[in-house]
Amino acid sequence: MLTDYHVHLRPAGLSDSFAGAFNAANVERYREAATAAGIAELGVSEHIHRFQQSLAIWDHPFWREQALDDIHAYCEFVRERTDLRLGLEVDFVPGREDRTQSLIDSCELDYVVGSVHFLGDLAVDFDRFDIWAAGRSPEDVWRRYFETLAEAARSGLFDILAHPDLVKMWGDGRPSPPGDPRRYYEPALEAIAESGIAVEVSTAGLRKPVGEIYPAPAFLAGALEAGAPIALSSDAHVPEHIGYAYDQALALLEELGVHELAVFAARERRLEPLGP
Ligand SMILES: [Zn+2]
Ligand SMILES: [Zn+2]
Repeated sequence: MLTDYHVHLRPAGLSDSFAGAFNAANVERYREAATAAGIAELGVSEHIHRFQQSLAIWDHPFWREQALDDIHAYCEFVRERTDLRLGLEVDFVPGREDRTQSLIDSCELDYVVGSVHFLGDLAVDFDRFDIWAAGRSPEDVWRRYFETLAEAARSGLFDILAHPDLVKMWGDGRPSPPGDPRRYYEPALEAIAESGIAVEVSTAGLRKPVGEIYPAPAFLAGALEAGAPIALSSDAHVPEHIGYAYDQALALLEELGVHELAVFAARERRLEPLGP
């Protein structure tokens, strides 16, 4: 089986409408792309910050600008009007675990994808709130990123840890710490081992300046050693990106001896043989 779980029907811009993304014809475009790519298990995981209800968790200016939709209308649409698995991509906001849990619990989800995009108010992957412009050392940013990822894994809020080394997203476009990055991975890998969370292999990094799959092979090898099940996704925001460059992801997984993928329904996980 092949999966694509980390998928957005709603484009990143603000010019479109809820109805423009969440309608049968749009879902059909994604479903057709998945079928063409041999992906049987297709799910959608909209960003939490697109929903008005997310402002109860965090009132970051970016969230205030983006929080336009009703989360229950989204869940109802996916549940009642599509055959997609229902997920959410939820930021880990330290100190707001209870509020995050309440919002997750108010939806009947198949899975929750947990992400770290922000460290404090600044983002590792977004030039409008650029942590790299704040004069911090790359050592400090990388250490803090993977420590926060560890906290996210341990929080128990999430089923899948998304794009686990997103901090590398800019590639040579931002500073990175010299030498072997594995020293930064340690806290996150320990938390992955303790929590049992599934780890996402995401081909989205291939479309970004870094031009690499998330996570790096050394991180992925560490996660497998820690016993983590693997979830496979494209992080598509358009149908053309469903199953994006899966040949490269499958080659990497094969090389590392991965033969099963994590599959989710009603927040229960099972493993299925990997392959089209
Ligand atoms: Zn993300
Ligand atoms: Zn995403």
